[in-house]
Amino acid sequence: MSNWSRRTVQVHAGTRRSQYGEVAEAIFLTQGFVYDSAEQAEARFRQLGDDEYIYARYGNPTVRMFEERIAALEGAEDAFATASGMAAVNGALMSMLKAGDRVVAARALFGSCLYVLEDILARFGVEIVLVDGTDPAAWAAAITPDTQAVFLESVSNPTLEIVDIAAVARLAHAAGALVIVDNVFATPVFSRALEQGADVVVYSATKHIDGQGRCLGGVVLGRRDFIRKTLEPYMKHTGGALSPFNAWVMLKGLETLDLRVRAQTETAQALAEALQPHPGLTRTIYPGLPSHPQHALAMAQMGAGGTVLALEVAGGQTAAFAMLNALRLVTISNNLGDAKSLVTHPATTTHQRLPDAQKAALGITPGLVRLSVGLEDPADLLADLTGALNVI
Ligand SMILES: *Cc1c(COP(=O)(O)O)cnc(C)c1O
Repeated sequence: MSNWSRRTVQVHAGTRRSQYGEVAEAIFLTQGFVYDSAEQAEARFRQLGDDEYIYARYGNPTVRMFEERIAALEGAEDAFATASGMAAVNGALMSMLKAGDRVVAARALFGSCLYVLEDILARFGVEIVLVDGTDPAAWAAAITPDTQAVFLESVSNPTLEIVDIAAVARLAHAAGALVIVDNVFATPVFSRALEQGADVVVYSATKHIDGQGRCLGGVVLGRRDFIRKTLEPYMKHTGGALSPFNAWVMLKGLETLDLRVRAQTETAQALAEALQPHPGLTRTIYPGLPSHPQHALAMAQMGAGGTVLALEVAGGQTAAFAMLNALRLVTISNNLGDAKSLVTHPATTTHQRLPDAQKAALGITPGLVRLSVGLEDPADLLADLTGALNVI
């Protein structure tokens, strides 16, 4: 398996077959497991062997298949699957931090990640320092020797800022801090985050890994020590386990992940290039465009621009709403990574909670629209988007 390429790994890694020799992975939809004897139960509670289970909150064979497959894909020693992306983010941070610790994070974060840091961790006495993630000097100034963790989204939502994982990791490791990367927008297809210096990588599997808008899920990847000794005890006792059914959906999602994400990215690149000159747009933000301020970094770090673009419509919120309402094919929804193209207005939905000043600092302007590109025909999408822009 060690010499398989990623496309092979995502189809085969982690597969375990029952005595029936099924081709497709089985869903072990069971909470518990039976023992041959009281002695065997005692032994398992003392020390779980490889591929042994006692209760689905602690582990399950279908969930384990998903963990092993995505760990192999990401090049991680181990993985722990969680009920959602936020259970993964919360678990990665809460399991390793204590009162008095210091976390330095990029300020451009998913709303719920900001809540975990600023509202929950801060309440338990963890010092949270937010910096402009694109500014190496800001990271250097903030990462002091008493910093325990650095948290960042490698590509920020919704303004698609890129954080230089290798540069931040060098600073963090010099201070003895762990680097936790929320890697949703990079996807496992374009990620080399562990190679680039991340210690822990987190995904919301809800997005591209499912990729068809069905199930919530998440995963934390990293060194076996961290996953098994730090994260697992926290997760298994606090109840953030992934359901076996959802793990099965994610497993099947992984099989087509590369095909879907590459096709969606190709369309996103084509749309960004075609839409950029449109007079109805003041900005077309896409890491795959040379006009993106960090285009070179995006190409070096991921090799592609990803499946999401951000469009700033001339005419503010009124024009942005008019555009959204004029779309016939692209649907209004705040999810992303789906086979269906989805569009959202961050200032009034995903980032509504933020004060205006914070929105402005993050570039979430009234005219900003986020587009998650799906698997439809690129020509149909372009016709729909230009049609909607022409209406306004
Ligand atoms: C969606 C998302 C999450 C949260 O994932 P859920 O599965 O919805 O809990 C975290 N981080 C980023 C960057 C996301 O896009």
